[in-house]
Amino acid sequence: MPSFVIAEKCDGCKGRDKTACQYICPNDLMVLNKDIMKAYNQEAEQCWECYNCVKICPQSAIEIRAYQDFAPMGSSVIPLRGSDSIMWTIKYRNGNLKRFKFPIRTTPEGGIDPYQGIADADIKDINSDLLCDETGITLSVPEK
Ligand code: SF4
Ligand code: SF4
Repeated sequence: MPSFVIAEKCDGCKGRDKTACQYICPNDLMVLNKDIMKAYNQEAEQCWECYNCVKICPQSAIEIRAYQDFAPMGSSVIPLRGSDSIMWTIKYRNGNLKRFKFPIRTTPEGGIDPYQGIADADIKDINSDLLCDETGITLSVPEK
């Protein structure tokens, strides 16, 4: 089920050009109603519940309404983002709570070179079954 903005908590990211949820949504689903300065998911059925908007919202104003077959009524999954970790709070429908804290990447935005250590593409490898980062692996590849 899709993301859902809790209107009472949303402050429209204080009127910045682009809100945090608009910036992060890979599907461009979040919209800001500038009349009331509240965001909403404009096409809920297109939301794939990636949790990006939930994690980035500075007001913790977004939740995911989970599918009720695997997350029955009354349960919830709430992430709280810190500077170097995310605390996930899992609430079960019987009221039990579990918390998990995981470190997050602290690399500056744009600071990662995804091709570091990978050789330039070579057209003669086009029929190889190996991936570009598997050149050092010895595999038995059948003749074509
Ligand atoms: S990121 Fe949060 S506070 Fe900012 S506009 Fe979206 S829902 Fe509102
Ligand atoms: S959960 Fe993901 S796909 Fe859905 S609105 Fe948020 S960022 Fe977009």
